[in-house]
Amino acid sequence: MKLFDAIIDATMAEVEKSKVKKLPVDLSCAWPDNGASEFVMQRDSAFELGGGTQASLNYTCVTTSEIMESDEILLAGPDLSEIKGDVPFARIVLLQTEDLGDDSEGQYRAIREMEFARYHVFPKGYMVRVSSMSNEEQVRVSKEAVRKGISFASVGASYIKKYREVANVKHVRVIFLLEKEAVSNLKPYAGKVDDITKTLTHIFDNILADCGHCDMKSVCDEVEGMKEMHLGLAKKKERKE
Ligand code: SF4
Repeated sequence: MKLFDAIIDATMAEVEKSKVKKLPVDLSCAWPDNGASEFVMQRDSAFELGGGTQASLNYTCVTTSEIMESDEILLAGPDLSEIKGDVPFARIVLLQTEDLGDDSEGQYRAIREMEFARYHVFPKGYMVRVSSMSNEEQVRVSKEAVRKGISFASVGASYIKKYREVANVKHVRVIFLLEKEAVSNLKPYAGKVDDITKTLTHIFDNILADCGHCDMKSVCDEVEGMKEMHLGLAKKKERKE
């Protein structure tokens, strides 16, 4: 699975332009999970990540390429204890998986399970609002959570723990970016990730590959391996019939 590799490379090139710190990864320090979405009232809020007029962004990429040797949490910007008001915010997750084989359906299922994990982490006092339409993510952080010591290391550990529950996930890199320019430069990649995921859905809903009459052609022309995946699947279906 290398469909997202070009985006991963471009993302890391952009991230490396910022002053990035590697935070310690300790899954036993994951922030307590609420188990379900929690409402943090405005009056209890310390600040919002990506709130108000601040830009925000969220996307997740999967690869079987060896892009890391262990789990990682990267931060560009202040930690949660140092933030005094609303700030721009991007949370990007890169997942390195075991080889998913040439079973395209298995690959697609794995992506779907990882998508599920993305929306099912509920750190206490850290209310996440996502817009899948615009790839934005806003987080309201409660005063109580800040008082109790919530940090990006503990929230990052919560995400890593959740993703590690998904079969085949080997390593997870969680990136928190709080710099306006970096968030805005990465915006186009969120759209591209979305395009790839939508095209995969199209491929599995329309087994026959008819590139001449397909709205996804521009995505398949750009993303290496996409066309091969669809044609391989179509051939497999033909052989079965
Ligand atoms: S391979 Fe062809 S038919 Fe399949 S999604 Fe891409 S452009 Fe459409």
